Amino acid sequence: MRIVLLGAPGSGKGTQSQRLVQRFGIPQISTGDLLRSAVARGTPLGVKARAVMEAGKLVDDATVLGMIEERLAEPDVARGFILDGFPRNIAQAEALDRMLNTLGKPLTAVVQMDVPYAELTRRIAGRRSCQNCGRVYNIYSMPVGAALVCPNCPGNPPLFQRPDDNEATVVERLKVYEAQTRPLVNYYGQKGLLQSIDAQGEVDAITALLVGVLTSPAGEKARSVAGGTTRVKPRRAVKGKAKAKAKAKTKTKTKTKAKTKAKTKAQTKATRKAKARVRPARRTAAARRPVARKKKKAPARKK
Ligand code: AMP
Repeated sequence: MRIVLLGAPGSGKGTQSQRLVQRFGIPQISTGDLLRSAVARGTPLGVKARAVMEAGKLVDDATVLGMIEERLAEPDVARGFILDGFPRNIAQAEALDRMLNTLGKPLTAVVQMDVPYAELTRRIAGRRSCQNCGRVYNIYSMPVGAALVCPNCPGNPPLFQRPDDNEATVVERLKVYEAQTRPLVNYYGQKGLLQSIDAQGEVDAITALLVGVLTSPAGEKARSVAGGTTRVKPRRAVKGKAKAKAKAKTKTKTKTKAKTKAKTKAQTKATRKAKARVRPARRTAAARRPVARKKKKAPARKK
């Protein structure tokens, strides 16, 4: 599996990549993570990239392509990989194609994760990460009052908010996505590689959808991508209040149905009774007498 996850900032590429790593045992390659690590280590590349990242712009192609080339040469990618946040523009996509063709290992799937703008900004505002293990959490999907620490790491280190997840930078990052990254939807669509999923809703449901798209039989996939892009929607999980509401609605519906049935039955019975009550009136002697027919006037003879 050589996969690209496409999607705007906040569409869940990172979260879903981590789940695909567990599921398929192939590494996630996130250019954002590689760059953040360089920034944290204070390498010359990191020092150069820092200001660009904090402004919400794209780091130059040469730097990013150099990082990717190095990463793709490592042995753990032999069985496949999940690219998250790369490529970000057409030039990077073309360079990736060249690299993979040289290795004789072209991409096998590109999945676009579709999320409405309002949901993207909400998700980014709630995003928190663990500096130790890199896991991404969201305060909106954590239990109310839960401590903002990583439950996965020893000593439960505190979670932190990425410096580029502030409101002003997010607006810029979304603009950059529209202008430079969205054209990749067409690029991969024309190659017949693109599938698009509705990435709103429950994280588990989206993972199931992704896994389904990535493991669907070759024939089915070929048919579904024939027109360029396939769009798959998750089945929404009905939870808590919504579930109770749906149940109550069904109950009311059943009750109403039963009431209507009983009413109709009663009405039919009443009608039958009423009909039985209305007997034909007894004919009086006068009524029984044959009615004398009026003689028709004979038409006047012509003289
Ligand atoms: P991400 O974690 O993917 O949202 O990336 C965070 C930031 O890293 C982006 O806003 C860019 O500044 C930079 N970055 C990540 N991937 C790329 C890429 N493929 N090309 C250029 N810049 C990138």
